[in-house]
Amino acid sequence: MSEKIALGNWGEELVAKKARCPKCKNAKTLKKLTQNFKCADLICDFCGFVAQVKTSSTNDINTLPNSILGAAWGPQKERMDAGIYTSLFVVLRSKSDKNYSIFFLPSELQVPEMFVAREPLSGNAKRAGWQGFLIDTTLVADRFVRLI
Ligand SMILES: [Zn+2]
Repeated sequence: MSEKIALGNWGEELVAKKARCPKCKNAKTLKKLTQNFKCADLICDFCGFVAQVKTSSTNDINTLPNSILGAAWGPQKERMDAGIYTSLFVVLRSKSDKNYSIFFLPSELQVPEMFVAREPLSGNAKRAGWQGFLIDTTLVADRFVRLI
């Protein structure tokens, strides 16, 4: 398992364990969805709320990074064109110790401009042509809520 996937799994499990469902406020009802479930990482098994989790390794868990690596741009663009946004947990893990923080941005406070397409991977890359996106947090920094 790559380091990136391991970090992502750790973040998803942390949110499932520590965070209450933002919709129904229950504890321990957020469950991890399977890896190949595309548009969300967690689902509440009480109310059906779904969310994405992005995890970053950082030097300062008190400050959101200005940009966070998203996923594939194509599906994200299609969802935005359909007016569909998914609530987002951002987990920051300290590089130097075991500390972490969890931030939350509900779907209704997201804007299309915060999702920024990246250049497609070049011809020599293993996944040539694949296009990802970044999440620009600076546009919505004051809309995130810190949970932990
Ligand atoms: Zn719920």
